[in-house]
Amino acid sequence: MPQTNRSKVSRWDQHGRLHTVHVRRSGVQRTLSCDTCGWHRGAQFLPWLKAEEHLAEAHQATVDPTAA
Ligand SMILES: [Zn+2]
Repeated sequence: MPQTNRSKVSRWDQHGRLHTVHVRRSGVQRTLSCDTCGWHRGAQFLPWLKAEEHLAEAHQATVDPTAA
């Protein structure tokens, strides 16, 4: 069963650190917040994609721990 309602996005960086962006529902919006740096923003569409972008750009964290 695919996880269509993930509440967070986690990625490893090349130093083996795990970075997590939490996704919270807030009406029609989703609010993203990063554990590592405190970054947050709202996203109405594709919040997980924006979370992945932040993890890649801010933390160079691109390795999906849930990938096979
Ligand atoms: Zn961050």
